[in-house]
Amino acid sequence: MRSSVIIATWLSFRGVQTHALGPFEKNIAARADHLNIATTALKPLLSQNASVILPTDNDWDALQIRGTSPRIHPKFNAIVEPATEADVQKTVQFASKFGIPFLAVSGTHGWTKTLNNLPYGIQINMRKLNSVTVDPSGNTATIGGGTLQWEANKVLYAKGKQAVLTLCECTSIAGPMLAGGHSMLQARHGYTLDNLVSARVILANGTAVTASSSSNSDLFWALRGAGQSFGIVTSLQLNVYDIPSTWTISTFIYRSDKLEAVLDAVNKLDGDAMRSQNLVINGVGTRIPPMDPQNPMIIYTLSYQGPEAEALPYFSKFKAIGPITVKPSTNVNNMELYKITQNSVDSAACARNKNSMGSGVSLPSWNTTAARAAFNIFAKMTADRRFSRSVFLLENYGMQGVRAVDPSLTSLSLEERQYPAVANPTIWWNGTAAVGQADAEAYGEQIRQALFAGLPKGAKKHTYVNYAVGTENFNQMYGYDTARVQRLKTLKKAYDPENRFGFYNPVPLA
Ligand SMILES: Cc1cc2nc3c(=O)[nH]c(=O)nc-3n(C[C@H](O)[C@H](O)[C@H](O)COP(=O)(O)OP(=O)(O)OC[C@H]3O[C@@H](n4cnc5c(N)ncnc54)[C@H](O)[C@@H]3O)c2cc1C
Repeated sequence: MRSSVIIATWLSFRGVQTHALGPFEKNIAARADHLNIATTALKPLLSQNASVILPTDNDWDALQIRGTSPRIHPKFNAIVEPATEADVQKTVQFASKFGIPFLAVSGTHGWTKTLNNLPYGIQINMRKLNSVTVDPSGNTATIGGGTLQWEANKVLYAKGKQAVLTLCECTSIAGPMLAGGHSMLQARHGYTLDNLVSARVILANGTAVTASSSSNSDLFWALRGAGQSFGIVTSLQLNVYDIPSTWTISTFIYRSDKLEAVLDAVNKLDGDAMRSQNLVINGVGTRIPPMDPQNPMIIYTLSYQGPEAEALPYFSKFKAIGPITVKPSTNVNNMELYKITQNSVDSAACARNKNSMGSGVSLPSWNTTAARAAFNIFAKMTADRRFSRSVFLLENYGMQGVRAVDPSLTSLSLEERQYPAVANPTIWWNGTAAVGQADAEAYGEQIRQALFAGLPKGAKKHTYVNYAVGTENFNQMYGYDTARVQRLKTLKKAYDPENRFGFYNPVPLA
């Protein structure tokens, strides 16, 4: 009897949410009684510090805002903030039992539009699970499933440690890690997922398991490359390393006619087996009207974890290309790093509630003709005032550590393990107008097709799962290796036969 009331309640919300509610509307109040019935059934199952938040509650609006809203707006009609692993488990059991869709939210920076397919349901907001403890061995840390990058960095730094964290302070640890985790330390230690020792995971059927090389090893394999499709990570154990040194950083700003020269220099460095694993190369195309009112500029930041004397030979190659400004920074510690590389929580990159869209392309090297064609489209797009603040990311973080990992150990695609160059036009614009979104998507797609046109013969199109727009096919994100993708699909069927984890660039069941 009780069950049927709850089911009826949630089904009635589905109708309301799908047809009547926009992402920021609160006119669900008329249904508040029904929501209360449903959540009244869940609330007593949760621990004291857990919360259940409804559209009529004060916190509701703030918890709808994402790093990527309003473009990305999964439709929620209740939010659960678990405070313990058991809370996550009970919420998933409750939702699964009654067929209520749900989605884990940690850093809110997921930007694939497949997230908008959540028709209605529960936001499982992981932010109360935000702990970081360096384990007694000093070689690993145990990190809560809702922890953000800056929170982990702060604790680790205080202990003289660093981990393979991603570049922006505002994303979570678990979100990027589950499909990769591009990092300033990847050239030494591999992607974030290569540093995962074990994870506690809530499966679709509500069981809580440990995944590691010795426990549920199939799941552990799938988690590291396609993790968002397999479960909710409540905590994870990650390798940590002693901080070896401060960073030496130099930022070079070039006029756009230097694009080919800069990309040639990057290709040469990437092809050099002796390229230092301490070096990170980070490029951005962006408009700086006072410097050039007509064309976007090209900014390259070279970061080297080590002394200036070791970094200078690399910096001199970029200086020789003829930047119009050079800004050096020495002795940069791990807390200052994000600010200097413009990836801190208060940076433009971390701005919230501003449409942002990636359109990722991973490449075996830069084809300068294709890059010029793509850059010209970027220049045209940013001449349009709506998109003028967009940036064109040109990333080469170094691949030695990534390639050193046996590819059979993780489900990560072979392309993601090999391709050193990542381009990601990151398009920002304001407003909710459909035309803005359609134009942004069209520009993003034109830019990436221009880059793909320069692929060497036989190379396949690849997009990093976490930089996908949400229009890519399965193979473009998860790879073309038949055995690997078949294993992923088989495991998906075994672990999540109802496709409950089906909203983040999902692995299909068949
Ligand atoms: C500004 C910005 C900077 C970025 N920088 C980097 C970078 O440096 N390196 C890089 O590799 N990627 C980067 N990305 C891409 C990033 O990896 C993805 O956007 C990622 O999904 C963000 O995770 P989140 O937790 O912040 O976002 P959320 O939207 O909260 O989560 C994204 C998805 O991850 C899943 N998820 C979240 N938490 C959990 C959990 N605890 N257990 C299971 N599943 C979970 C859910 O499916 C969720 O929909 C960046 C993106 C943006 C917008």
